[in-house]
Amino acid sequence: MDTPIQFVDLKKQYAPLKEEILTGISEVLDGMHLFLGDNVQAFEKEFAAFCGVKHGIGISDGTSALHVILRAMEIGPGDEVITVPNTFIATAEAITMAGASMVLVDIDPATYLMDLDRVEEKITPKTKAIMPVHLYGQMVNMDRLREIADRHGLRIIEDTCQAHGAEFNGKQAAGLGDAAAYSFYFSKNLGGYGEGGFVTTNDDELARKMRMIRDHGSERRYCHDLLGMNARLDEIQAVVLRVKLKHLAEWNIARRQHAELYRKLLADLPVTAPLEAESARHVYHLFVVRAPERDALQAYLKDHGIFTGIHYPIPIHLQTAFGFMGHKAGDFPVTERAVGEILSLPMFAELTDAEIVRIADTIREFYLTKGGIQQAPETMAKISN
Ligand SMILES: *Cc1c(COP(=O)(O)O)cnc(C)c1O
Repeated sequence: MDTPIQFVDLKKQYAPLKEEILTGISEVLDGMHLFLGDNVQAFEKEFAAFCGVKHGIGISDGTSALHVILRAMEIGPGDEVITVPNTFIATAEAITMAGASMVLVDIDPATYLMDLDRVEEKITPKTKAIMPVHLYGQMVNMDRLREIADRHGLRIIEDTCQAHGAEFNGKQAAGLGDAAAYSFYFSKNLGGYGEGGFVTTNDDELARKMRMIRDHGSERRYCHDLLGMNARLDEIQAVVLRVKLKHLAEWNIARRQHAELYRKLLADLPVTAPLEAESARHVYHLFVVRAPERDALQAYLKDHGIFTGIHYPIPIHLQTAFGFMGHKAGDFPVTERAVGEILSLPMFAELTDAEIVRIADTIREFYLTKGGIQQAPETMAKISN
């Protein structure tokens, strides 16, 4: 069998950066300044500049980043926050652990993002914020969302954990919402070698509160003015992130090129490539296709050494942990249909064109042989060319 193609191959990214990262980590350990030191402070400035926002604050992980924003906005018991059922569980956990009630709105079938036509019907007098998830690397239409939020006096908290560097109308997250949360989980477009997260905002007072909350509500040692938590980014992760940040823009360009090639090669097959919405610059954290006979295709690819993922197989409202919300199958039909059909193909900057060709060829082979799908004659002609 050919060499396996991993879903994400982090070793390929590490090799050329190894020396610089190890030198930086070694300096941190020699200095034994492990938290909120020079590297975290420098990274906060560098990543905020990359995002084009005024304030950036290093956080321990993405889930806590969302939580810190909610706490700083004083959103909790008795308040409602609107988000989507098609997301990683962390979005829902942050809202629920803050004590607020999560209200779900179904997704758009083409982008898999929050269906903005359905947001307003979910707004009640208790609604305090809308939490769009810029899933798979593509931003929600923030112009439209801003209009809706302003009309009802609501805050926008962006879950940008999958969309580092993504843009809407030439602008990144947090410039358009009130605050945005990032994750540096190892497989994200920008990832550390442990846990890491970040919050951004243009609001000075909100930034001050978030900075305090991430470090036990304190600005001066052992004086705790706000009820905070331990959500600090550590110096070793900041070293790794500073080295990698210098490459993020070029890695995102590579991801977009891979997406273009995939799109070309898959064009005549029964899978549906992801839609790039108007005004949105997708950074392809994940390359998610809709595939007939998804499970059989996934197994076939695996048998041929190609590893894929499903993001995510069970929507939030059908997760056992959220059973208390009282939802049932059928409540969010667009999401439920999508989760049975979506498949995330290998996607990372170091992926090669030859690998993408092999993946597309294997998908073609599946539909011609195992898939049992009758090809239209003109498609067959194209394939045999
Ligand atoms: C990764 C992720 C998170 C949480 O980030 P962690 O750093 O793993 O806590 C939140 N939301 C989404 C959509 C994510 O993909």
